[in-house]
Parts: sequence; C-alpha cells; structure tokens
Amino acid sequence: MRRTRLFTKTLREAPADEVARNAQLLIRAGFVHKEMAGVYAYLPLGLRVIEHIKQIVREEMNAAGGEELLMTTLQPSDIWEKTNRWDDEVVDNWFKTKLLNGTVLGVGLTHEEPIVDAARPYISSYKDLPKSVYQIGNKYRNEKRAKSGLLRGREFIMKDLYTFARDQEEHERVYENFAVAYGKVYERLGLGDVTYRVKADGGIFTKRYSDEFQTRTDIGEDIIYHAKGSELYYNQEVAPSRAPRVEQASEQLPMEAKHTPGVVGVEQLARELGVAVESTVKTMLYVIDDVVTAVAVRGDYEVNEIKLRMALDAKSVALADEDTIKRVTGAEVGYAGLIGLPDDVRIIVDDSVEPLVNFELGANVTNEHNVNVNWDRDLPRPECFYDVKDAKEGDLSPETGEVYEVFRAVEVGNIFPLETKYTDLLDMYYLDENGERQSIVMGSYGVGVSRLMGVVAEHFSDDKGLIWPENIAPYHVYLVSIGQTGSEKADELYDELAKRGVEVMYDDRDVRPGEKFADAELMGMPWRVTVSDRGVEAGTYELTERKTGETVVLTYDELLAKLG
Ligand code: ATP
Ligand code: MG
Repeated sequence: MRRTRLFTKTLREAPADEVARNAQLLIRAGFVHKEMAGVYAYLPLGLRVIEHIKQIVREEMNAAGGEELLMTTLQPSDIWEKTNRWDDEVVDNWFKTKLLNGTVLGVGLTHEEPIVDAARPYISSYKDLPKSVYQIGNKYRNEKRAKSGLLRGREFIMKDLYTFARDQEEHERVYENFAVAYGKVYERLGLGDVTYRVKADGGIFTKRYSDEFQTRTDIGEDIIYHAKGSELYYNQEVAPSRAPRVEQASEQLPMEAKHTPGVVGVEQLARELGVAVESTVKTMLYVIDDVVTAVAVRGDYEVNEIKLRMALDAKSVALADEDTIKRVTGAEVGYAGLIGLPDDVRIIVDDSVEPLVNFELGANVTNEHNVNVNWDRDLPRPECFYDVKDAKEGDLSPETGEVYEVFRAVEVGNIFPLETKYTDLLDMYYLDENGERQSIVMGSYGVGVSRLMGVVAEHFSDDKGLIWPENIAPYHVYLVSIGQTGSEKADELYDELAKRGVEVMYDDRDVRPGEKFADAELMGMPWRVTVSDRGVEAGTYELTERKTGETVVLTYDELLAKLG
C-alpha cells in the first residue's frame, strides 16, 4: 500500500475527550475513528489488525474442534425470558430496540440462548454430541463506564464459542481443550508471558469457578491474586485468603458494654473505644436463600458475597433490609453482633475472627458495643470458621501459606462451565444409549477481539507510538524513500517485495524524511527500510527494527533474504 493512496493520515492529536492511551495512539496513527464513547470504527489499518487477530483466534478454535457460524444481532425476547435474562433489572446492560409494530427486540450482548435455540433441531441423540460452535462478531453492551478506549466498548468485537456435551466428564474434556487453545491464542499475540489463567466467579448456577484469561497491565480493572511459586491465580472477587496473624493478649479481660452513640464505621469505632481496628468485628446481616444469616468478619475486612454464596452453595445472597435487621437484633442498624441473636438466625464467622482475644462486637443494643469479648466464655465458638472475606494486599494464600503477589490485569478472555442451566431452561435434551432423556452440559467461551487490539496497543508501545508484534501488524515493513534516486530504487524494492508476498506500507509521499520516520514510529510496523540517494550510491539499504530501534546496513540481496 502506498501512503499517497491510504485513506488515513496520522494526526497530531487525539480528540480531547479520549483519555485512554490505547485509543489515543490508535486514533493518532489512523487505525480507528472514535464515533462516540465506547464506539470505534476500524479504519483500513485497524481493520487489518483486527482481521489478523480474528484469524489467529479462528485457527486455534478450528484446531481445537470448533466450527464457525454467525448468529444474529437482533434478538427476540421469548428465549431470553425463559432463562430470566430479558428483564433490565436482571441484566442491566441490554440495548433494546423496537419493530414498527412496537415489538421490543434485544441487541445481542452474548448468545447462549440463541445458540441453544439454533442447535435444537440438530442435537437429539447421544450420537450428536459433543458439538462446538463459535462466531466472531459484534456485541453490544450498555456499559456504564466506557473510558478505556478499545478495552471497554459499548459496541465491540468478541469471539464467542459454545460447547454441548453428554455429561460432566465429556464437558470437562472439551473445556480443557479450549482452555489450552486460548493459551495458544495469547501466545501467538505476543502476550503469552503476561497472560494468566485465573479463577473467577462462575455465576449463580455452578459451584465451579469460571476461568478468566487476564493480561497483566497497570491499566487493568481487575485485581489478581497470585499464590507465588504456584500456578494458582485468582480474581480478587473469589481469592481465598488468610489474614496475617495479629499479636493477641495472653489474658482475657472482663467483657464490658460501651456506650457508642452516633459512631459511624469501624475506624471511628476503634478510635472511640481505644482498640485496634484488627480487634473489632463487623457483623453484617444477610438473607441467603431465605435464611437470615449473620456474617462476621474482622473489622478491617469486608464480607465477600461471592465467596459467601460459594461457601454455602447458595443461589441468592442479599443484604437484609432495615426491618429485618431491627427485628433480629432488636436494635437500630449498625449495632449487630453475634451474642443473643434469635435461634433461627444462622451464624457464619470468617476465619479472621477465630484467633481474636478480647475483641469488640456489636451488642445488638442501640448505641452499644461490647469490648473484651472472648470465644467460649462470652459466646460459643463456632464449629467451623469460613473464609468469606474480600482478600486484601498482605493476605496469605491458604494453599501455599505465603503472602500473595497482587497485580492489576485486564480480562482478555473468559470461559464458563454453564452446567445444564440454559439447555434445561430452553428445553433441549438428548436421548442416551438406552433411549433415556438426559440433560446437555454446556460451556461458553469468550475472547475480547477488539479489547485485545487495545491491550496490544497499550502493551507494545512507547513514547513514539505503536510497536506491533509481527503476527498482527497491519504491514510487515514501512518503506521510506529519500530523494530522487532513492525513490526510484524504493519503487523497485516495493514491487519486488510485493512479488515475494511481503506486506509493505510504502511512504512515497513528498515530505521531509523526519516526517516519514515519525510516522513509521507512530504506526509501528515491525521493520522500517530506508532507501536514500546516498544509500543507493553505496548500494546499501537501512533496515531498522521498530522494537529495538537498531539499524543494520544491508545490500539488496541481504535485505531480500532478511524480509522475503
Ligand atoms: P468485564 O468484566 O470486563 O466487563 P465480562 O466478564 O462482562 O467483561 P464476558 O461476558 O466474559 O465479559 O465476555 C467475554 C470477553 O469479551 C471478555 O473476557 C472480554 O475480553 C470481552 N469483553 C467483554 N466486555 C467487553 C467490552 N465492553 N468491550 C470490549 N471487550 C469486552
Ligand atoms: Mg467475563
């Protein structure tokens, strides 16, 4: 491609409202156009990158046994109603639109329901399973924040794959197979050494974790807990954690009620009572699958509702309302504790509270807290303690006993065991060898294709611009001509490289060399070749690697050998 024919030019500045570095660079280099927040058009250069990423994803999905298809963007409500995912209260990021007759349609944000619907005529016997299908296309989500450029679009490109299996065992095999394929995708994109398979929330219909693929980067929205020296990575939302031990008194002091009117929050409470925050205990009241439950964590922790749900194998976890709190504690909100609760209130105590001696606890009396509370003496020690706290930095991994390594990352893929939720709800079953009806085990697997382009732009760039990995660069070579004879020789080289199938962006513009070099750096093709009058005289060509900035001087044949 000749620069003089290219649709885009480089821009001095990105729009003022663009705050994400990936989008700033991609806009300035002419790869994308910002239509509005979270909505980007892919211009010719950007489209080439997207197509390269798609191709890598496609090859790996095909190699792992996936078949490609294309589902629709417009969605009828009925199939989503069957799985309770149509209501805006349940799924809050739907875009919806209307037919002329008033019928409301959804704009596709994921495709579990329609894929089951489409598979129904073809899956009825054990002989029809397993099956794996995927698509690469646009998804639409009404995201609250869309300030991270390509990392969080309201319209974005995703590869989504769905698998159907006879039973859990078959599903497991298929699932692991695609997990391995995912690893290969990130490897080929050059992100292999900074992308990790991370355990994350599996959702309410499975006891299992889902697996996220997270790329380490400071701009990531997710926080990852790594048990050092192991392959165990957790999203903070589910990271098991052990509180570092805090020195405890050897002697139990008498329990005492303290008057604490108007105290808000553990920090203030600890100050007023003259105790360490680590000696306070926070009691939160929840309704968990209809059972009122008091959940206690050490004061410097928060209750983690996902871990709570998983620990109790529950379907729903919600904070109790004011009336319930008043009823069970007999006090205003803010004074809940564990002593004297009605018998039908279940008590769940986090393991951070277990070792405490002389701790503080809400008194279940308005304006009162107890201090110097002790297990066994003042309240029965629970038979078992749970881990239901949000992990925080400094916590230990219960699996290795070591302090976690904590870092930020961006989710570039997510694979989910869906069990039989969607297939059951949408009434798709199969007949086994004995002619008996069986549920179908499903999996769902997403890769953020456009997000990956943003992640790569962010990860592989410097103050001069983009640095594309060879596998996805829009062009392999950026050819710069300088001077009259330089241009003639550059024309020849361009034709020769084209013949050899090398993809070249040829800067044939009549502008200063400095401008061409700056554009070469901003656009980020892996190699720059400079053909100048002086070089032609000496019979040499300069080859510069974008990644290292190193230049070597080569003869024509050496250059062709290197590039072609
Ligand atoms: P997030 O937690 O980042 O909002 P998600 O968990 O809702 O993402 P999934 O439904 O798991 O997303 O989608 C599969 C993949 O699609 C994600 O791993 C991510 O790479 C990508 N993705 C999701 N939402 C967006 C978005 N708004 N913009 C770009 N890519 C996205
Ligand atoms: Mg996800």
